[in-house]
Amino acid sequence: MNEPIEIPERSGTAFELARGDTLVVIDPRGEQVSDLLAFNAADLDEVISSGRTLDFAETLYLTTGHILYSNRSRPMLSIVADTVGRHDFLLTPCSFDTFNHFYPTLPPHRGCFGNLAAALEPYGVAPDRIPTAFNCFMNVPIDGETGKLKVLPPISKAGDSITFRAEMDLIIGMTACSAPDSNGGTFKPIHYRIERG
Ligand SMILES: [Zn+2]
Repeated sequence: MNEPIEIPERSGTAFELARGDTLVVIDPRGEQVSDLLAFNAADLDEVISSGRTLDFAETLYLTTGHILYSNRSRPMLSIVADTVGRHDFLLTPCSFDTFNHFYPTLPPHRGCFGNLAAALEPYGVAPDRIPTAFNCFMNVPIDGETGKLKVLPPISKAGDSITFRAEMDLIIGMTACSAPDSNGGTFKPIHYRIERG
């Protein structure tokens, strides 16, 4: 088994994932979110789609057995294992604007958005192409009557993970999230491991 690679706190990375490869995203210390993006490696206009995925899944809470679809309604990633069972696919990556809006007294940070934009730039992905990310371990409960949502600390514990299988050749962007409320108030690294198919 490959050694995990670390994404340091409040940073991001990007890499290629071939069809059939497995990606394991690990929360090494617990209560840490990782935003995940996927682009078709052969055509950057095809990108992971929250709307299409939630539409087909008929639920807001995605876990083992669910598929993350592209804007062209094609499978990009299948969730093949999940020790947590609570992730978010509604909210955009945190950014300077997030900090201005929710944390006006804290030093601003470019957040997951800025980290993803920097990591994906070498692959030709411009910032305006960044969509809603699949937010591994992010805990966003919804009140079914009012529609009110909250961002609560993740329920993930140290060593928890979610595992994806690539259904096409992909460029992946991933972060260790930078927003205080999403991560129980502290910033921790994320680990990931790739098993080549
Ligand atoms: Zn974030």
